[in-house]
Amino acid sequence: MITFRFFLKLLISSAFVFFLLQYEPLAAQDRTILAIGAHAGDMEITTGALLAKHSAKGDRVVILHLTPGERGNPAMTPEQYATQKRSEAEEAAIILGAEPIFGPYADGEIPDTEEARRYVNDVIRRIQPTHIITHWKNSIHKDHSITHRIVTDAVLLASLEGVESDYSRHRGVRGIYFAENWEDMQDYQPYIFVDITDSFDVWKEAISRYEFISGDISAFPYYDYYTSLARVRGALARSTYAITFAIDEFGKRITWQHLP
Ligand SMILES: [Zn+2]
Repeated sequence: MITFRFFLKLLISSAFVFFLLQYEPLAAQDRTILAIGAHAGDMEITTGALLAKHSAKGDRVVILHLTPGERGNPAMTPEQYATQKRSEAEEAAIILGAEPIFGPYADGEIPDTEEARRYVNDVIRRIQPTHIITHWKNSIHKDHSITHRIVTDAVLLASLEGVESDYSRHRGVRGIYFAENWEDMQDYQPYIFVDITDSFDVWKEAISRYEFISGDISAFPYYDYYTSLARVRGALARSTYAITFAIDEFGKRITWQHLP
């Protein structure tokens, strides 16, 4: 028999759970987002607005750049441009509220090897991300598609016991999301749309730190493309600005007991 006192308790506890779900008072640092790009700039231009949104909520945001992307500037040596790209990445990270990590590889030469998987595995074990963002599997730039393979394999490696590493295993990755990048569009299907209207201006400020965004180095109109894309995706997401992610096919599986 349900007594009044029990019913009151139930009501209070339900209200408390509802309060937790609504306001997430203990949610600071609930998420650690690790974005892994082939070149400095890749993750900021594609997903920087989401990273800024989460860092503003109190989540930890880390960006791993496997290479500086130092070979794209005809006016500089790769060494000079690497120095510039690193400082641009550091300035962008400050604006986004992110921590940058610079990997040990060279532009155009990310090795599709076990060693590279072990390097990213170590970063994942050290950072302990709840969410990982990286490149889609197909790209016109081989560094991007190799990064995809390295990262997806490294997530598995990082979850295993007995793998030689200075860090203990990490099984807390809740999801891997693939960012929308103009170079990675073959078979890319936007699956998740995220409203980034509130962080749009911060994101534009952050990506403007990169010289290549302005179009002086590459002929590709990065700034116009990504700001326009955010509006196009926003229209589809019924917001002003949005970005999208693809996920792997397995993640799209839905199990029902009956029709909703
Ligand atoms: Zn790139």
